Amino acid sequence: MFIKPALLLIIIAALAGTVICQHRTIAITIDDLPVVSTRTDIANRQKITKKLVKHIAKAKIPVIGFVNENKLYTDGRRDEEQIDLLRMWLDAGLELGNHTYSHVSLHNVGVEEFEANVIKGETITKELLAENGKKLRFFRYPYLMTGRTLEIKAEIVKFLTGRSYTIAPITFDNADYIFSRAYDNAFDKGDKALMKRVADAYVPYMESKIDYWERQSVKLFGREISEIMLIHANFINSDYLDDLIKMLHRRGYKFVDLETALRDKAYSLPDAYTGGAGISRLHRWALDRGKDSVLDNEPRVPEFVMKASGFDSE
Ligand SMILES: [Zn+2]
Repeated sequence: MFIKPALLLIIIAALAGTVICQHRTIAITIDDLPVVSTRTDIANRQKITKKLVKHIAKAKIPVIGFVNENKLYTDGRRDEEQIDLLRMWLDAGLELGNHTYSHVSLHNVGVEEFEANVIKGETITKELLAENGKKLRFFRYPYLMTGRTLEIKAEIVKFLTGRSYTIAPITFDNADYIFSRAYDNAFDKGDKALMKRVADAYVPYMESKIDYWERQSVKLFGREISEIMLIHANFINSDYLDDLIKMLHRRGYKFVDLETALRDKAYSLPDAYTGGAGISRLHRWALDRGKDSVLDNEPRVPEFVMKASGFDSE
């Protein structure tokens, strides 16, 4: 078949356009600010925060950090050195959200206690955001526990919406905290070889996870929805966040802020899950459609990392 050169050019341009429009998007969210590590001294927290913020600034990507304000007090008093850690995030142009005051699980406390903990957790963050001309907009449930009954879920959603919060779900669930605990423990024991072994397994594990969530998304929606990744403000990410970002770049991801990711129409679908596990929104939607919708063979944390972390299960 003979195709005129001009027509050929149009076809090539159209195909290229399709490829360009199909880029993957992801929002990066970091929990348990200012820092979660086995070493809780201020010097370690400063070191970890500096490194995390440096990786993010270098990559020039939007990130939101979710704060537990109980870490900002020493002997019941506001601790400005701890609060300065959050100022580092804000000075880098990053956003902060509320993750409750003391990381309480909605599955362990009553509605009233949970709500009080949310309110207590917004005091300093709100103040810091206001100094930067920003508002506190996002909330993330600790342990991703969203309520054991539909009534409790609805009540808390109404409460959060009433305080102008947007709930921050996640899709890219993973066990970065297990790797980081293993990395912390190895550091605390002075075992550099084990630190390296854990670190070498980390980004490949995270890549196998995002590959799984991409496929789970296609199984559910016939397309890859805008992903929301959850990681923690921890030791391993302070050393390897740049490698994690590079891996996502290589997979064709464009980094968007949480607000943009949530515009994907998938997020308008309800989350009716009331089970006891802190699971990805993708699995919540899948379970809603029936167990067959859950993709098999979710990647696991390697055995040696589990052992080094001291965790019994993921
Ligand atoms: Zn958390």
